[in-house]
Amino acid sequence: MLRRRSFLKNAAAAVYAPLGNLVSRAAESKRVAFGGIRIECSTYSRIRARMEDFTVRRGQALVDDPAYRPLKNYPYPFRPTLIASAVPGGPVERKTYEALKAEFLHRVSDLLPLDGLYLAMHGAMYVDDMQDADGDWIAAAREVVGKDCLITASFDLHGSLSRRTIDTLDMLSAYRTAPHIDYVETTQRACDMLVHCLDQRVRPSMVWAPIPVLMPGERSSTLYEPAKRLWAQLPAMNAEPGVLDASLLVGYVWADEPRATACAVMTGTNLDVLKKNALSLAQQYWDARKEFQFGVPTANLFDCIDQAQRLSTKPVLISDSGDNPTAGGTGDRAEVLAALLLRKVNDAVVAGIADRPATEACYRAGVGATIPLDIGGTLDPQGSLPVEVKAKVVFLLKTDDLPERQAVIDIDGIKVVLTARRRPFHEIRDFTSLGLEPASFKIVVVKAGYLVPPIHAIANPNLMALTDGAVNQDIVHLPANKYRVPSYPFVPDLEWKPFTVVSARSPKAS
Ligand SMILES: [Zn+2]
Repeated sequence: MLRRRSFLKNAAAAVYAPLGNLVSRAAESKRVAFGGIRIECSTYSRIRARMEDFTVRRGQALVDDPAYRPLKNYPYPFRPTLIASAVPGGPVERKTYEALKAEFLHRVSDLLPLDGLYLAMHGAMYVDDMQDADGDWIAAAREVVGKDCLITASFDLHGSLSRRTIDTLDMLSAYRTAPHIDYVETTQRACDMLVHCLDQRVRPSMVWAPIPVLMPGERSSTLYEPAKRLWAQLPAMNAEPGVLDASLLVGYVWADEPRATACAVMTGTNLDVLKKNALSLAQQYWDARKEFQFGVPTANLFDCIDQAQRLSTKPVLISDSGDNPTAGGTGDRAEVLAALLLRKVNDAVVAGIADRPATEACYRAGVGATIPLDIGGTLDPQGSLPVEVKAKVVFLLKTDDLPERQAVIDIDGIKVVLTARRRPFHEIRDFTSLGLEPASFKIVVVKAGYLVPPIHAIANPNLMALTDGAVNQDIVHLPANKYRVPSYPFVPDLEWKPFTVVSARSPKAS
């Protein structure tokens, strides 16, 4: 809180630029709306995100969403439109995107005139046959609200920004932690800035420094160097006079798009300070590019299993990183199960494999039944082969909601969680709600990259298996890189000098 106050005070002391027709409206009666779309899409995935994959919150349900509860603390209401969010995955089906966008724009236009708009974005959305889908959404919103409305946005630090996005927004804030534990704070940063600018009649500038470096999130966790020290500088930069926000984004590596790069973005009122900081961050990121490494030991799948068996500690958490649904993996692959069976492991839990037919078969058979199952490869049959097993059904989650169904089966001591829909297993309660105590197993397999704090806390230790899938960590060998701009490590000997772009809406740029 102190940090937020001090940066707002510093910003207020900086140069102001007039805000067009906002000046004529009463300061206490600002009209502000919020909405957005949040999904991360691997362009290497063969599955599609359709309407049923999105959770769409509208109206009061959106106002009451805990993630956006801070918006209730401002002096005027943030009026809800809609926010559509989905587990990361493959590209969004075009008609799903168009339907969500049309409804969002309709809801925005119902609230006109607006002085401010907050967009909750992820930044790594890919829509079938559409480059820069996030930029398309943001530009469409600008068209509806008009040029005088101030637009702020929050992004995941794995979002990728485009020139269009920079030129359309007035300000933005990105997460500063990976794993992401500051999403509420990021919303606050983005909206504090908007409210400040509306109240003080400030039209800020944005300075963008794209950095031609791409890393998987697993090599750029802010828990480890060099990301730790790079991101640690942002609060101090944010506190400098003339700065409203300092953001540094890793970008999204599993997207074959020109905008997919890291970048620094500064928002504020003092262009010199913004440029200085953006250049400094970009240069430091570039200089550190060869330092980015996995934060935990990595190995191929069989080596991970063999190492886990040799260790005297437990539970050994093995991350099935190539099929991590929280990064865009399909989540239906059963290769780890096949490897555990081949190695005759008899004390392990695999959580989970998205396989609706196998889940349904378990519900039909009932607890206690032993049934033959083909597990895996149901969402993307081209991606991987199923594993044939005979399994005993040991638990069925009670739910009337078919996509929420989860079944636990036992195959010679290996427990496998089958899920009707793609979902992560990040929380201890994800296991305990199924009658599983993860710490009691020798090996716990999760479809994840880096582990988020609750599950990380029990890992003893964590090994990352470099498995195949739509978010394969072997990024330089990703197929069909047609649209990327030259970037490290795809071009290992790339030469580059940092530069900045001042956004088109910046007062001094117009
Ligand atoms: Zn992220």
